[in-house]
Amino acid sequence: MTENTCLNCGRSANEIPLLALEYRGVMYSICPHCLPSLIHKPQNLAEKLPGLENLPPVQHED
Ligand SMILES: [Zn+2]
Repeated sequence: MTENTCLNCGRSANEIPLLALEYRGVMYSICPHCLPSLIHKPQNLAEKLPGLENLPPVQHED
C-alpha cells in the first residue's frame, strides 16, 4: 500500500511529475529531483528502500 508520492521527499504527483520504479517486487515513485540521489548515492535512500545499503557496486570496465 504505497501512496503515490516521492519516496524521498514525499511530494505527490499533483505537485511534481513522478517516475515509477520497482524494487524487490514493490512499486515506488520518485520525483526527478530525487532521482540523482538514487543513482549516485543509493545508500542515502536505504532508509526508504531497505537493502540498498548493500547494493553491490557496478563493475565499470573502461
Ligand atoms: Zn522527491
